[in-house]
Amino acid sequence: MIETERIRHLNDRRVTAGAGFVLYWMQAAQRAIDNQALSHAALEADRLGLPLEVLFVLADYPAATVPHYRWMLGGLRECSSTLRDAGIGFSIVRGDPLAMVTNAAIGAAMVVCDRSPSGWSVRLRASLAASLDIPVVEVDGESVVPEAVASSRQEWSARTFRGRISGAVDVYATTPPLPVPVPRRAAGTAGMAGDDKLFSAYDSPMAHAYSGDRSPLQSFAAVSGTSAALVLLERFVLERLDRYDADRNDPTKDGTSGLSPYLHFGQLSPVAVIRAAKTAGGPGYPAFAEQVVVRRELCRNYARWHPLDVDSWEGIPSWSRSTLEAAARDRRAYVYTRANFEASLTHDAYWNAPQEQLVRTGTIHNYMRMYWGKMMLAWSASPREAFETAVYLNDRYALDGRDPNGWAGVAWCFGLHDRPWPPRPVFGTVRAMAASGLRRKFDADGYAATWAPDHLPKSALESTIP
Ligand SMILES: Cc1cc2nc3c(=O)[nH]c(=O)nc-3n(C[C@H](O)[C@H](O)[C@H](O)COP(=O)(O)OP(=O)(O)OC[C@H]3O[C@@H](n4cnc5c(N)ncnc54)[C@H](O)[C@@H]3O)c2cc1C
Repeated sequence: MIETERIRHLNDRRVTAGAGFVLYWMQAAQRAIDNQALSHAALEADRLGLPLEVLFVLADYPAATVPHYRWMLGGLRECSSTLRDAGIGFSIVRGDPLAMVTNAAIGAAMVVCDRSPSGWSVRLRASLAASLDIPVVEVDGESVVPEAVASSRQEWSARTFRGRISGAVDVYATTPPLPVPVPRRAAGTAGMAGDDKLFSAYDSPMAHAYSGDRSPLQSFAAVSGTSAALVLLERFVLERLDRYDADRNDPTKDGTSGLSPYLHFGQLSPVAVIRAAKTAGGPGYPAFAEQVVVRRELCRNYARWHPLDVDSWEGIPSWSRSTLEAAARDRRAYVYTRANFEASLTHDAYWNAPQEQLVRTGTIHNYMRMYWGKMMLAWSASPREAFETAVYLNDRYALDGRDPNGWAGVAWCFGLHDRPWPPRPVFGTVRAMAASGLRRKFDADGYAATWAPDHLPKSALESTIP
């Protein structure tokens, strides 16, 4: 059984007689195991005596790079064969999601979808539910503590949110794993009109999308797919969880899990992650649970309450916008454009290094991500421009980007989920960061040397140095 608090009916239609299948529109949860929406759809299919069909719609996501698509499709290919082996139909199509799902739902008894807090996907599911004459149900499988239980309001800090959910984490962290469902009635071999060639749609050599685009440089160490995610999770829990609290803020150590891309694409369930970590226990567990549940779900809470401006300047708290706007005329030591930042062309080796790491590998260590965001605020012409540059670069290059964690992570650099600090030039009362802090915490020079952008022509630098 799936916890009822994860399930929400988006319309009040009834199942009509004569339907041929149950449709699961897979979007956020791109996996065959520990997938609450998939399992719920399979239970409904069995209850109605129908087969289960899964649909994935490959839609345009302009911020993403070709390597991101390639990575996602690798995971989907694995997922599709696991599902087909279990007698579940899987179709991948390309186009406008609303039109494609509406078309695929012809003849279906009901549609089950993934809950995701981002405004555009909430609006999409609402339109679907309003236009179809069959039940449309969403299942919240991407949070450990379902949104409906966690909080009914916008949370202002980790402290308040932690207090609300801490009791519930243990409950959901001990729920049993959900295996690949095997519906009693297997789907026919014909299935829906999908096109498996789409799994390779991004395999051909790629061109630069615009002058200054560095995405052709990207190659990711992480192997895509649920099997690879489970191996990584097991290794992390066995080898690094105990030292997580001690090592996680040192970018020169392999101290964190590396799971964020798998969580972002839904190749791994957050419940599976917390279950494995809790079962192992040990000294690192509380700090890890704080990140993977409290911090991650606080970001999802932010997305839920900012359906229209989660990734924009207007979304950040009014106190931080006011203080940053008041400090906008303060003299900046350096002023860089988005193109300078994108090309890792600042004067600061500590800033260029995480930008290089981001461009080349699709990841930045969390500690350097904070410095990376804060320094764009320090060295852009205006705080709004800094915010937009940071969102742009994070969404464009991060494998785990285009995610509530990313939008809220950038917004944190500009005051979200934080409190006012003693005033400083340029930052106002938003918390500042400085290179000296990096050197105190770890071998910042070693890190900068590892990711030095030595291949770049310094002549391209267009900064104004007062
Ligand atoms: C400017 C900025 C941008 C960011 N952009 C993203 C992004 O696009 N996507 C993304 O997933 N995270 C983002 N983060 C949060 C954090 O940096 C990453 O989640 C983390 O570095 C991922 O590495 P990991 O999986 O090894 O993390 P671990 O330390 O192993 O943590 C486990 C999981 O907990 C969650 N988590 C960890 N730290 C945070 C955090 N600070 N806030 C919310 N959740 C967290 C992630 O899901 C992560 O996979 C951003 C943070 C900042 C400051």
